Amino acid sequence: MTTSQNPGTAEELRHAGLRVTAARVALLETVRAGDHLGVEAIACGARDRLGHISLQAVYEALHAISAARLIRRVEPAGSRALFEGRVGDNHHHLVCRSCGAVADVDCAVGDALCLTASDDRGFSIDEAEVMYWGLCPDCSPASSI
Ligand SMILES: [Zn+2]
Ligand SMILES: [Zn+2]
Repeated sequence: MTTSQNPGTAEELRHAGLRVTAARVALLETVRAGDHLGVEAIACGARDRLGHISLQAVYEALHAISAARLIRRVEPAGSRALFEGRVGDNHHHLVCRSCGAVADVDCAVGDALCLTASDDRGFSIDEAEVMYWGLCPDCSPASSI
C-alpha cells in the first residue's frame, strides 16, 4: 500500500454531496495522479491504495464522481472511457488514431471561447467537446527519419 491520503479529498467529496467512502477517496486520488486512465488502470491504482475493490464498485464510484464533476470522462470514438482529474477548464484532447494516445490541449482560441457557438439555438451551453484526431509523434511517419 502506498497510501498518501489527502484529507482534502474526502472533504471535496462531501462538498460535492457524495457519501465519502475509502473507495471513492482512493479512486479520485488515482484519477488525479494519472493521465487519462481507463477503468482497469484506475482499478489497479485504487487497489494499491486500498486493497481489493471490485470492478463493478469501481464503475459505480467513477460514475458518481464524474456526475459530481470532480473528474471528467473522456470517450474518444471507438475507445474505452478514460477519466481525468482536470475538470472545469474546457480543455480539449488530441487522440492518436494509431496507438490511442491521448493528450490534453488547451482551448484553441483561449479562455473557453469555444463555448460561444455561432448559433446556440437557445441552449445554455456549459461545455464544448472537441476531439482532434491524428497521429502522435511516435506513430507519425515523419518521426522515423
Ligand atoms: Zn500514436
Ligand atoms: Zn484531458
